[in-house]
Amino acid sequence: MKPYKLPALPFAYNALEPTIDEMTMKVHHDEHHRGYVDKLNDALEPYPDLQKRVEELLASLHTLPVDLKDDVANNAGGHANHSLYWTILTPRSQRGPSGELGSAIASKFGSFEKFQSQFTECAAQHFSNGWAWLASDAHGALSVFATKDHESPISRALTPLLVLDVWEHAYYLKHQNRRAEYIKGFWKIVNWKEVGKRWEDVRTKGATNREWKMTG
Ligand code: MN
Repeated sequence: MKPYKLPALPFAYNALEPTIDEMTMKVHHDEHHRGYVDKLNDALEPYPDLQKRVEELLASLHTLPVDLKDDVANNAGGHANHSLYWTILTPRSQRGPSGELGSAIASKFGSFEKFQSQFTECAAQHFSNGWAWLASDAHGALSVFATKDHESPISRALTPLLVLDVWEHAYYLKHQNRRAEYIKGFWKIVNWKEVGKRWEDVRTKGATNREWKMTG
């Protein structure tokens, strides 16, 4: 049996229109994400002892044999990042973070709007294929940054809370070169309840030893 599986989308393919159109969602989930899962299964097939949860793999990339490391970083990262991305999107978005997460964001960035601007700029300016993140360290310190390719914050001992895929495959069919339009739409489909739950986990369990709850 293959250890890694493609998780089902938590919404219909067309549920996030007009920000993410049905065709993009189909190709993104059924082809791109499945590709990372398949390649991860292939890469680790000869190494049963290394078939750990993707989050554990990403936290311990430096321990892998050198000829496996890039393959695992790319495909475990691709699998984990997409699995997380699907869970923080929803057609029934709330206006913004509430409760403890809302307070933490306002305290760190000045206001929710200032946080939004910083995240938007980070996603818009990122030069290559990659991801924009809001993440927390083990002490609850928040940060906004981008990573290249499929690098995960987990490999930096951080817990990802919010993520935006800025690979062209995430938006090009619908928005072409207008990444800013895609980012603007993203704010209307964020699942703040899920992001808030992730923050609650960090606060109660810490960032380094938690149940990541990303993968299906
Ligand atoms: Mn993607």
